Amino acid sequence: MKKQFAVIGLGRFGGSICESLSKQGMEVLAIDTNEDKVNRFANVATHAVVADSTDENTLKSLGIRNFDHVIVAIGDNIQSSILTTLMLVEQGVKHITVKAQNDYHEKVLNKIGAHKVVHPERDMGVRIAHNIVSKNVLDY
Ligand code: ATP
Repeated sequence: MKKQFAVIGLGRFGGSICESLSKQGMEVLAIDTNEDKVNRFANVATHAVVADSTDENTLKSLGIRNFDHVIVAIGDNIQSSILTTLMLVEQGVKHITVKAQNDYHEKVLNKIGAHKVVHPERDMGVRIAHNIVSKNVLDY
């Protein structure tokens, strides 16, 4: 059976995750409060819905606990990101990956039970720096 993913927040980060998972043949539910963004992903994701992930009943009615992996890609609104993550943990979602905006955000997300916290800009900076150094080493 295909793995089922839900992506909450369709900014550049969440949007590219959603697109990439779909291209790999996964089932993806795309969620955002912004109708325009949801419409943009209607043909990319398996399902795309306008919904506020900070609303517990909304998450329940989407059956969020049945998804294999939920990605929280809400950026600027740290409060919404934390609240959403907390409810996903409480509802027993098996794998929760969350995008952190800064170190404090990351700390809180780890404390409340996020399974993986990513910091895309920082993580990518580290990868690129390693890549540059290993390339230079090979060049000599
Ligand atoms: P990126 O850098 O990935 O473009 P960003 O850091 O600018 O993203 P935001 O634009 O703040 O992140 O948030 C990403 C998306 O999350 C937005 O499309 C926003 O509408 C959506 N979003 C914010 N709060 C909620 C919420 N409570 N429920 C669902 N979606 C939300």
